[in-house]
Amino acid sequence: ASRPSPEPTRTTCGYCGVGCSLDVVTAGGKVTAVLPARDGPVNQGHACVKGRFAHGYLTSPERLTRPLLRRDGRLEPVGWDEALAQVARGLRAAVDAGGPDAVAAISSARATNEENYLVQKFMRVVIGTNNVDNCSRLCHSPSAAGLTASLGLPGGTDTFDDVEKADCLLVVGANPVEAHPVVGARLLGRVLHGAKLVVADPRAVGLALHADVHLRPRPGTNVALFHGLAHVLLAEGLADEEFLRERVVGLPELTELLADYPPQRVADITGVPAADLVAAARLYGRARRPAILYGLGVTEHLHGTDGVRSLTNLAILRGAVGTDRGYGVNPLRGQNNVQGASDMGALPDFLPGYGRVSDPAARSRAEAVWGVPVPGRPGLRIPAMFAAARAGDLRALWVIGEDVCATDPDANRVARALDACPLVVCNELFLSETARHADVVLPVASWLEKDGSFVNFDRRFQRVRPAVSPPGAARSDFDVVHAVAAVMGVDLGCATPADALAECGRVAPVFAGLSHDRLDRESAVPWPCPDPGRPGEATLYAKRFATPDGRAHLAATPYLPPGEQPDDDYPLVLVTGRRWAHYNSGSMTRRGGNLELDPVDFLDLHPDDATRYDVRDGAHVTVESRHGRACLIARVGEQTATGQVFCSFHFPTSGVNRLTSDHADTVTSCPEYKVTAVRVASS
Ligand code: SF4
Repeated sequence: ASRPSPEPTRTTCGYCGVGCSLDVVTAGGKVTAVLPARDGPVNQGHACVKGRFAHGYLTSPERLTRPLLRRDGRLEPVGWDEALAQVARGLRAAVDAGGPDAVAAISSARATNEENYLVQKFMRVVIGTNNVDNCSRLCHSPSAAGLTASLGLPGGTDTFDDVEKADCLLVVGANPVEAHPVVGARLLGRVLHGAKLVVADPRAVGLALHADVHLRPRPGTNVALFHGLAHVLLAEGLADEEFLRERVVGLPELTELLADYPPQRVADITGVPAADLVAAARLYGRARRPAILYGLGVTEHLHGTDGVRSLTNLAILRGAVGTDRGYGVNPLRGQNNVQGASDMGALPDFLPGYGRVSDPAARSRAEAVWGVPVPGRPGLRIPAMFAAARAGDLRALWVIGEDVCATDPDANRVARALDACPLVVCNELFLSETARHADVVLPVASWLEKDGSFVNFDRRFQRVRPAVSPPGAARSDFDVVHAVAAVMGVDLGCATPADALAECGRVAPVFAGLSHDRLDRESAVPWPCPDPGRPGEATLYAKRFATPDGRAHLAATPYLPPGEQPDDDYPLVLVTGRRWAHYNSGSMTRRGGNLELDPVDFLDLHPDDATRYDVRDGAHVTVESRHGRACLIARVGEQTATGQVFCSFHFPTSGVNRLTSDHADTVTSCPEYKVTAVRVASS
């Protein structure tokens, strides 16, 4: 009989961006329990149903244990040598035929920081292209762009610990009770201890039940809503005039713009009653320490970056960022390491630490460490990679941990792009929707099987440690990238994950104070952290903003409508999002006990719409958009407003992302998942 291992393995949860510390108990090489760490820096003894129980996938018979190679149209098991040789040959052929920019890679939050660092180094050093992007393109790229433009850095402004001091919470476009349960519980705790709560979300999400004011804007009208709140702050003298005078630019332009957003006009655009808008603005405006937390309901829009910036305006107007008079503006990251994937430079326009590839000084820092020239032209973003593949310009695509055929919008077109690309390589745990379109599938380790670090939603680096070994011949993404480079005749250096983080610190001064040894000693260290002898900056901008002039920049961007509007043919608006027991495409959480907790996907719709479209609760329905069709089970209830329907993207077979459009944020190309015009009929 196998004996339990004497000490559990301390690691960081690989699901949402909260970054809970977990103690993993094993016996006989298998995980037997996952316990929330009592001394976890973020979770303090708590964890949710995903982190605690969704580890059955580790031993699923569907785990990939050998590389697969497509021959005569079928994927067949082969050895690593053959698979790696095929990848190397295919990448070389793509470069020979179309130059380095004919190759692209999509990295992800499934990969550790060190793996993301190595992937982007491989693309820049071995291939010679900036065609590398990650899954933040699809979720919080507008946060990075918006927060950088307004405040200077692409991360949240405060440590989550400080939310305990907030006396008013403005939670926008987020459902933390389900998507970030440990955060949701702490926010609820604040409310039970007297903090005011304003929820802005079209749906009656869990926190809305406890809200002092629940604003339910029509999907796609956030910018008008935020301008309406800002209008009231200025009109009622609730702005911090001294802060605005000393630390802010852009007030005259914003004031002029806000004249067009009085409460009644905003009510007409958003559907939010003017009185509710005024009440919410007063709660936020009169609080001693107001806090803003937001999610993908702000970013995943045609004007997502404008949404982030106009929301940030509120904190700037109140002097609630960069001071002790507020908890700033903080994005709730949906995925464990989506912050880290970007921090490590898996981006087409940024090197590790956010030096622009177009900036010669940033390039020469990287070149001094890597010993090769770095291309100065920004690479392709994920949607542009697919377009290039369909056009025949992209000849090789390496997808690392993303199930793009399940999670990217307009999935039918994504599949066509993969089919048009001469070489598609997938690093995967399972034969995912995307892997089914690949030419080579490489079996890799999951978060419970590998070594490295993640960055959570409040910029904290924490260690990831292997509790068990990967099955069969599966290897870490870190080893796989090294191995492909070696077959192509390049030694990427940084032999271990610890070496990779150390090297990243030499490329990116903002991470120079970090090391695995330090993370082992201190548990969690936030960035910026340029000095190994000093703490990282948990709270940003106390002295100056990180913009070139050191000031916060108000944004005067007008409200513009979403990419799609309901009409006679497609009268409902589909909003997609997450549910409590599952994570993203569900490939891990659907393989184990969590499937029993949440076994099927539903299309939520309001009773009035159920009557109008003759749909019964529990009936099979066909949902159609201008882009595709999906089949779901109707769930009738009042959580979803009339005129809207809601569905998760955890069950790819239901095909919800065949419905979503390719409308995308005009600044960052983040898809507009939150507004798709659809029609519904009983099947
Ligand atoms: Fe914590 Fe998020 Fe993991 Fe749940 S999914 S245990 S809230 S990190």
